[in-house]
Amino acid sequence: MKEGRLKVGIIGGGAAGLFTACQLKKLGLNDDIEITILEKTSTLGKKLTLTGHGRCNITNRKTPSEFKKGLHEAGNFLYPAIKEFSPDDTVRFFEEDLGLKLKEEDNNRMFPVCDSAVKVRDTIVSYISDKVKTICDAKVLDIAKTDGFDVYTTKGDFKFDILVLSCGGASFPETGSTGDSYAFASGLGHTVEPIRAALAPVKVDKASRQFTSALSGVSVNANASLYCSGSKSASSEGDVLFADFGLTGPAIMELSREIPTDIVDMNGWIELDFTPFMSDEQIDKEFQKMIDEHPDTKVSTLASKYVPSSVSRELSARAKVTDLYAQNFTKQNRKALCKEIKHLELGIEEAPNIDKAYVTRGGVRLKEVDKRTMQSTIVSGLYIIGEALDIDGISGGYNLQACMSEAYAVSKSILG
Ligand SMILES: Cc1cc2nc3c(=O)[nH]c(=O)nc-3n(C[C@H](O)[C@H](O)[C@H](O)COP(=O)(O)OP(=O)(O)OC[C@H]3O[C@@H](n4cnc5c(N)ncnc54)[C@H](O)[C@@H]3O)c2cc1C
Repeated sequence: MKEGRLKVGIIGGGAAGLFTACQLKKLGLNDDIEITILEKTSTLGKKLTLTGHGRCNITNRKTPSEFKKGLHEAGNFLYPAIKEFSPDDTVRFFEEDLGLKLKEEDNNRMFPVCDSAVKVRDTIVSYISDKVKTICDAKVLDIAKTDGFDVYTTKGDFKFDILVLSCGGASFPETGSTGDSYAFASGLGHTVEPIRAALAPVKVDKASRQFTSALSGVSVNANASLYCSGSKSASSEGDVLFADFGLTGPAIMELSREIPTDIVDMNGWIELDFTPFMSDEQIDKEFQKMIDEHPDTKVSTLASKYVPSSVSRELSARAKVTDLYAQNFTKQNRKALCKEIKHLELGIEEAPNIDKAYVTRGGVRLKEVDKRTMQSTIVSGLYIIGEALDIDGISGGYNLQACMSEAYAVSKSILG
């Protein structure tokens, strides 16, 4: 470690920057080290306050080897950091150091008992306040590597020995994350993998919107598959929520990262299968049985065995069997309805909008970052974390836990 006071600059006071300040304090920050957070907006952790629909889904209580499966291609890269600071460690840190009790909900998702992301942000800010200097409304304009780092901001110039680049991705720009990380990293010699939306809603074409808007607000469990240029390229199972603009909900948000930016040229569509546990033949057999047992029942009523009745009504309309009674349900009608139940095709109007995405896919190339410390392998003394990196996790607390584990790795490395 350098003689005299070591000056550490954290660029961006979002989740990753704040967690780093927390970890530095917890790991034993002493008077030889001076930490400064430079934040572009007037408040710290704006995006953090929106997380978990305002309740902050802070982590997902899985073992590290299970957890890494939620990080897509970045699972192996982040595994050492997740092992070093696991979801269990995050729970301990929140409860014992921050004094915020957590509770577990479905799918191992952890939330604060107070159900308030604002309270999480405020508690973190208060925890670091005696050890860390925070400067808001200090937009970093440029960074130059000299003997340390010269940082030029709207609130003057700063010099740091060590720099933590944590100014986020490009999603939800109103929170301050407008992709600046990528410009700074590439200016310092890093490669930035092309960015696109992940965990985003999907706008469907005009014809398909008739269907989704009629069901706006209805949520159904389904298997959603993405088709590009006529071939299936990805699928995801879970809740699908219909909306005026198209589709959202966990299964769709998950699939969105796979939608290429040139999806319009690829005539892309999403296929929904409302009965993934049954084949087309099984459904047809069941329909035949129902015809025998309930000849005077409307077909749309019979189909509500598989989907909520509002969805059944719309699917029946698409299959043109709305007013049909079971006794008149022909083989051709059955095929048409089965197609809607198992192969509902909704055309994609455009690639998901990054402004509405919860996270950014792409970012600083992971091969250029040491996975044990998050230090750049190109620029000594530069650490890169959070959404600035080419990491995006599934929903359920994976992205904040990724920030927390990375923050721990950085802090351990800085404190030697
Ligand atoms: C609506 C929503 C809900 C979410 N819910 C969850 C959830 O429940 N659980 C979960 O795990 N994840 C969730 N996420 C994802 C999670 O919030 C992000 O992955 C996480 O905040 C990324 O942290 P970060 O520090 O890298 O970026 P950010 O939190 O975006 O912080 C970056 C900070 O850098 C600042 N900045 C940018 N440019 C500059 C500059 N030039 N100079 C100075 N400062 C700058 C920004 O103003 C910002 O404050 C959600 C995201 C959204 C949008």
